[in-house]
This record gives sequence, C-alpha cells and structure tokens, in this order.
Amino acid sequence: MDTSTAVTHKTSDVMFAVRCLNGCKGTAAYERLTSLHRDLVEFKAKADEQRRSPKGTLNVPLMGWLDGQHREISERLARYHFRPGINWHSAVGGECRSSLVAILSRKNPQIIKASFPITEGDVAMALVRLYADGDLGKVRLCENCHNRWRVAAHSNYRFCSKECRVQFDENRPGYHERKKKNQRQYRKTLKEMRAKGGDR
Ligand SMILES: [Zn+2]
Repeated sequence: MDTSTAVTHKTSDVMFAVRCLNGCKGTAAYERLTSLHRDLVEFKAKADEQRRSPKGTLNVPLMGWLDGQHREISERLARYHFRPGINWHSAVGGECRSSLVAILSRKNPQIIKASFPITEGDVAMALVRLYADGDLGKVRLCENCHNRWRVAAHSNYRFCSKECRVQFDENRPGYHERKKKNQRQYRKTLKEMRAKGGDR
C-alpha cells in the first residue's frame, strides 16, 4: 500500500485541520491558529497577484508588503519545534503525524486528547503544508454561522450544514420575492406538464 507522506499529507491535512480547529474553540491556540489561517490565505492571494503582474512591472508596495508579512508569519511559526516521528494508526483525520511532529511545550500546548498529544504546532504545520500545496481554501469557516470549520472540496462549498445554507439564503435581500417567483414558476411548469400529459 502506498502511504508516502506526500500523498497522505495532501489528502488528510484538510480533515485534520478542520477537526482540530473545531475541537479547540475558545482557547488561545484557536486564536493563533485561525489568525495564521487568515494571514496565510491573504498572503497566498497577494503572492498570486504579484505573480500575475506583467513581466517587467514592479509593484513595489505589494512586494514590500509580501516581504514584511513573510517575515512576520515565519517569526510567529518559530514558537513551534519539531522532530521526526511516525504514527502507527490513523490519527485525527489521517496520518498527518507521520513525518514531523511538534514537541509539546508551554508555547505549544496540546489541543486535542488522543492516544498521543495533538498540539497546536501540528495544526500550524498542517496549515503551512496546505498553503504550500495551494489547498488552504479547502479548510473553511461556514459562511453563515461563522462557527463551524468544514472541509470544502470545491470552492462553492460554503456552509457547514443544510440548515446554514437555507438560513443564509433567507437572510439575503430579496429572498421573499425570489421565493414567490420560484413558486410561480413551479406552478406554471406543473400546469404545463399536466396539460401535456393529458388526463391519462
Ligand atoms: Zn454553519
């Protein structure tokens, strides 16, 4: 069975990060990790913008921002220390801990109880790997409740549940008008279908 770390990281870091973020709400670790996630998403978008700029043009303010932010994020990550390590069974959401594991310390608290400590640094590392792979967008906060993190396999996966999708739609301007219009269209289609089908 092929379980190279490259393969397992890419597929399991998303689930691992989602599960851990949902599991450490209300802690200082959660604040640091969500801020890291937010900053990495922003950094990636700006880095892409810089890459897309036409050859020969220098966007000096953007390059300055990228340089400063890159240093700032890297300094924040320096609080975590890692060592090589392996895991013998599937951890929370996968085998993320087979390669580098974060060393438990005052600056790197345990955030989830498992058969071994899962720490803030392990989640930070998963987020960094997802950033490097361009997959950070798959770890998302629900756009309605802003409370549940979820796996977004595609860019149009925006909500943690059906309830949140419906609630979001209901709160959008023009909901009642859209609903009335849809119901009118539904009744019209039904009528047409019945007319076509005759009274068989
Ligand atoms: Zn939600």
